[in-house]
Amino acid sequence: MQSITHFFSGIFLMALVQALVPVTWLVYVLLLPGGILLHFLIDGLVDITYHPKTARMQDPFWKGWHLIVLVGSIVVAVVFWVPYFWGMFFAYVVDIVDWGITRPVCALKKVQLPEDPNLYPRYFVHYWIGRFRSRCFSFLPDWKEKRRGVVPEIAIWAACVLVVVSFL
Ligand SMILES: [Zn+2]
Repeated sequence: MQSITHFFSGIFLMALVQALVPVTWLVYVLLLPGGILLHFLIDGLVDITYHPKTARMQDPFWKGWHLIVLVGSIVVAVVFWVPYFWGMFFAYVVDIVDWGITRPVCALKKVQLPEDPNLYPRYFVHYWIGRFRSRCFSFLPDWKEKRRGVVPEIAIWAACVLVVVSFL
């Protein structure tokens, strides 16, 4: 899923835990499992979101959408850096580990990885996310190549923002 979606979910998570748990150190302890669970849930929904396999530099829709999520991710990270850094960090930590540590280590050790991340070995957290997805969300339609797939992703942002603004 796009970084901005994980950031919004992290802001939601931290606001929720802070509202429910009055003990500061416990808030931070709960952010790690909460962030991992939310990452499973959000990446579990990837099939109904616009994620074409290859870059489409000729397609204005593809370019526009990726510009929005890139600029949006930076803006959200910067604006909410101080109050919600740890929420965003823990919601994103699975991607940091898999794509920022495990995959470069594999490259260094010359481990051949399949092209499809769904077929990555078990020591990738995303392997388990793939299993979770096929177990719980296999009924969802595949919109990865469909433009309408931006709607569910924007709906996740809106849901996170609405809950934080209205209830927390
Ligand atoms: Zn992920």
